[in-house]
Amino acid sequence: MSKLYYMFKNYLVFFLMVIIMNLHAQDMNWINESRNRLEKELISKYGESQRARIQRGLDQVISFWRSDDGDSSVFEDFVMNNFAGNNETMDAMFSRMENLLEKLYGHMNEIKVEFRKQVDLDRGPIFTFDEIFAGYSPGAHISEDFFRNKLAFVILLNFPLTTLGERLDNGDKWSRRQWAEVRLAQRFSKRIPSEVNQAVSEAEAITDQYISEYNIYAHHLLDENGDRLFPAGMKLLSHWNLRDELKANYLDKKDGFAKQKIIQKVMDRIIDQTIPQIVINNPYVDWNPYTNEVKVTDVYDFGEPKNPIKDVSNIPESDNRYEMLLKAFQASRKVDPYSPTAPTLIARKFDEEREIPKERVKAMLEAILTSPLVKEVARIIEARLGRPLEPFDIWYNGFRSSVKYSESELNKVVKSRYPTIEAFKEDIPNILVKIGFSKESAQAIASNIVVEPARGSGHAWGGGMRFAKARLRTRVGKDGMDYKGFNIAIHELGHNVEQTISMNEVDHYMLNGVPNTAFTEAIAFYFQSRDLELLGLSKPAEEDRVMKILNDFWMTYEIAGVSLVDIEIWEWMYAHPNANASELKQAMLNIAKDIWNKYYASIFKQVDVILLAIYSHIIHSFLYIPDYAIGHIISHQIEDHLSKFKHPGSELERILKLGCIAPDFWMKLATGSPISADALLGATERALKTYKSK
Ligand SMILES: [Zn+2]
Repeated sequence: MSKLYYMFKNYLVFFLMVIIMNLHAQDMNWINESRNRLEKELISKYGESQRARIQRGLDQVISFWRSDDGDSSVFEDFVMNNFAGNNETMDAMFSRMENLLEKLYGHMNEIKVEFRKQVDLDRGPIFTFDEIFAGYSPGAHISEDFFRNKLAFVILLNFPLTTLGERLDNGDKWSRRQWAEVRLAQRFSKRIPSEVNQAVSEAEAITDQYISEYNIYAHHLLDENGDRLFPAGMKLLSHWNLRDELKANYLDKKDGFAKQKIIQKVMDRIIDQTIPQIVINNPYVDWNPYTNEVKVTDVYDFGEPKNPIKDVSNIPESDNRYEMLLKAFQASRKVDPYSPTAPTLIARKFDEEREIPKERVKAMLEAILTSPLVKEVARIIEARLGRPLEPFDIWYNGFRSSVKYSESELNKVVKSRYPTIEAFKEDIPNILVKIGFSKESAQAIASNIVVEPARGSGHAWGGGMRFAKARLRTRVGKDGMDYKGFNIAIHELGHNVEQTISMNEVDHYMLNGVPNTAFTEAIAFYFQSRDLELLGLSKPAEEDRVMKILNDFWMTYEIAGVSLVDIEIWEWMYAHPNANASELKQAMLNIAKDIWNKYYASIFKQVDVILLAIYSHIIHSFLYIPDYAIGHIISHQIEDHLSKFKHPGSELERILKLGCIAPDFWMKLATGSPISADALLGATERALKTYKSK
């Protein structure tokens, strides 16, 4: 697609939205007349050089102004009093706003940290009121308040709203200040009525609930001979536990294959909705997924039922799954009219959250899916399995590194080094020096990090303003930190280092952070992968690295197909907004089969497989799946770059100071090339060579 067309399309969409929104406001007929009068007045006051800014500012304000914001005289007074018509006023306005918003967002973050401490930290019983504090979001109404007191309109009058197309076309010519202004305006690029936000939260809650109760009781699955293959007491949440059980069965040489087959059959029936309603979340019936027969069980691995089931039928679930996805879609659509620069959920996900155009993401996914390396890796997997591939082998996880240290050996090393949480905290400067930071930087970064005992396995929470502490929450047992805890803590430390540098050392507050979540995860995984070296143990051997890369490549190949299913089903819903659940199901089956037939059938020698559609995220996560694939791609690119440095600390500091500019520009300034799958493909090619030479 040509650049011009892209820009034209974006402008067209934007102005169409402006017109549509104005038509809604029947009682705002005055606004265009006011606009034209103000335009003339402002140009005569501030000069021809301000014409473009004046026009843009007026259009932006009008696109969000509602009749209850005020009549023509309120509107005209507002514009005349708040347009910054010269550089001096603009500079003052921008720097004061940036400073005050930093205080606002930063302190809101501090309040949230405090309100959640009782539930997040390991500090005794949680009372009901603690949970209410934890669920309270002090910043939730900032946007609404700022439209009401008109600060949002001041920003929209003076700073540019942009589409992703404009940011990508012009962003490399923008100064840091221009980028910061763009980010400032973006914070107010939507004015979503609270009832619409409410509808979205309700859809999130209801789809979440549906997914979270979708358990299969594995001991009650009967194989073709009527035998139970799975142990008593096994409850598998779809799809995560089903998939992980399938993966674990590669180690079961006796029944593993039969168990994997039966799980695939269960998944098929969930996707095509022939699964009997009664077997979902119910340990009191036995089910043969091959024949679809259901009967009352006489094996009680979850206690006896309160109300014994008498007769059962295999009446299917009847498209509830797709009813849920429709709810997610219908709620998302309600936001569209209030989001002029990204008027679909697809645009909000790709253009705003990821800031990588959908077509580019698709092209990267296809680069993986059509790579000749797939066939080579598939052959190796077949050889390792000693059988032809089955469709469920998209989840093959047998590229394991040789185990050099046992878990108990590692636990011993970590426990003696970190008997207390304080011991770990004190060692952070040394850890950072080992990662390659100078002594001074290591000290400065470490002094910004607070280490606290987590209630869960651990997490990292950055500050919301400069020099607010980043928090590392980790678990240390009574007898010291164990290896698992250390491994997670190093991952979280990676997040804290990123959070600290990209907040404290970035030139503009509005540019703090990294372009999207894939970047912070990449840094965290980079830290985590060096955990053995940090313990003074020998680095993973070349062979371990090769296995890890082949595993990453195969995982990316799998999730790339799932990502395409996720993208295409949202495209289909937007193209068929009035479809019902059964039409949506049919579309899902067609899309899953098409993508399978295009990218997997020749590798697996089977057609029309629907397995890619099993992911629960497709139903309840609003187009989240592509983040996994993008994450693998970005992670390899950053790791590839950092591996060129013997002491990558100072390089990390340099690239983390780039802040949250668009991902491609970030990657170009960091590594010399835009985001692409080349690093992962290159690493896989090298890994294959090494693998074959053994
Ligand atoms: Zn993480």
